[in-house]
Amino acid sequence: MGKILLKNIVSDGVVSDLLIDGNKIAGVQPADVLLPEDFVTDGCQVVDCAGKAAVPGFVNMHTHAGMAMMRGIGEDISFHEWIDRIWQVESRINDEYVYHATKVACLEMIKTGTTTFNDHYWHMPMAHKAATEMGLRPVLAYVFLDHNDPAESERQKQQCLEMYEESLTWNDHSLFAIAIHAIYSVREEMIIWATDFARSHGLKIHIHVSETRKEVEDCMAQHEGKTPVEYLDSLGVLGPDVIAAHTLWLSENDVRILGERGVTCVHNVNSNLKLASGYKFLYNELRDAGANICLGTDGCASSNNLDMLETMKTSAMLQKAWRDDPSAMPLDELISMATANAGKVLDLNIGKIEAGALADILIVDTDNYNFLSPGTFEANLVYSAHSDCIDSVICNGKFVMQNRVVPGEKEILAEARKFLF
Ligand SMILES: [Zn+2]
Repeated sequence: MGKILLKNIVSDGVVSDLLIDGNKIAGVQPADVLLPEDFVTDGCQVVDCAGKAAVPGFVNMHTHAGMAMMRGIGEDISFHEWIDRIWQVESRINDEYVYHATKVACLEMIKTGTTTFNDHYWHMPMAHKAATEMGLRPVLAYVFLDHNDPAESERQKQQCLEMYEESLTWNDHSLFAIAIHAIYSVREEMIIWATDFARSHGLKIHIHVSETRKEVEDCMAQHEGKTPVEYLDSLGVLGPDVIAAHTLWLSENDVRILGERGVTCVHNVNSNLKLASGYKFLYNELRDAGANICLGTDGCASSNNLDMLETMKTSAMLQKAWRDDPSAMPLDELISMATANAGKVLDLNIGKIEAGALADILIVDTDNYNFLSPGTFEANLVYSAHSDCIDSVICNGKFVMQNRVVPGEKEILAEARKFLF
């Protein structure tokens, strides 16, 4: 891997030189300080970034990349009608479909500044191939979803073992994880097996939890009054290696448990709003209880896009509105939720622009009206700008987009179009 020198880039408000060596940030220093001797050697790519600013790549902590070509297939219907429709469509997808859809998702993620995505989808080896070709940092979970059918559980256990073995040959920046779809779609015995498998192999556990009021009511009816959080805790599932998507319908006791277990809760605001699942995500309460909070888009079938800047803006505005408190979800915490907080649970040094961190960097063009203000850069980025301000993206020390050009964009769309249904 080579070296990249980003000259005159604004980092933390200072015009800087940002040095990348291999897949890591080697240093960030004021632009008027002499560079280390021997840094700019033959083959070092020097890029003038005057008028641009460095931001850590965004981390989308809950998505289903393979749904990138299912936008709009279930508009204006309830969550339960919607998920039935999704499962019907998903009975028709295959390896090729997921490969092309994931390429489209990666293209969109690059254009909107996501460098790491925590994925929860079928035909995972194809998602891995697509993400590798696109140069992103994927966390790809084998998904358990047995619809309470023991034969299906057995088939999925075998397939999980095979895919885990295959994952040992992956490149060093792809992570394998375990997903349990949800408590209402996976047998208890399977939930326990999947959790034990993940823990004994040091893998993260990705699960949908308390997404809808119905999920909570059904769980309480079936499991002696236990909420989904209490039920999962009684099975020993919850811990600091668990990434719980949604966590929207929570009791005080649920918040306490999620905090004490150090669970990562992922807020997927646009999906929740669109499916009318709910909107009172208990950000302050979960944070104060000790949970780690991240942001996600969910899949395109519910959120319609994978844009993390849009997710950040909506999350903060909604939190301010329903709490009647404009200081709710302040900017620094909001940006951490979309970047560094993910690094804590994924055990990755990401989400920071500093020496030693992985080189996942967005180069933001500030030479436009959205940034022409006395406001802070962060405020302009989240509340004023749109993701087209992201000029270039570096992931794992390599450019995946430069000057808004992603190599092969037209071909990716043309190939994927053949698989639309
Ligand atoms: Zn989801």
